[in-house]
Amino acid sequence: MRERLKNPEIAGTRTGYVIRFTCPACMNENIIISKIPRDHFKERRDASCRYCRKRSTVLTPAMIARTDTGTVPVGRPEPSS
Ligand SMILES: [Zn+2]
Repeated sequence: MRERLKNPEIAGTRTGYVIRFTCPACMNENIIISKIPRDHFKERRDASCRYCRKRSTVLTPAMIARTDTGTVPVGRPEPSS
């Protein structure tokens, strides 16, 4: 059985230059560190799980609104189930 599946799209959370996402296959948390500013602004990127090598498309919302106070309330857009 040969299927051509698109990579699942999963939501990631961005903290500074670090993007975290949870692998949908093995539920491990992965971390992406974007070293290239241009790459950092992308809203989606392909990533593969470092544990099971499952490939996913990680979605990160546009840059979280900057605050001059330094406190950025980052919500955790994770599904509850
Ligand atoms: Zn995995």
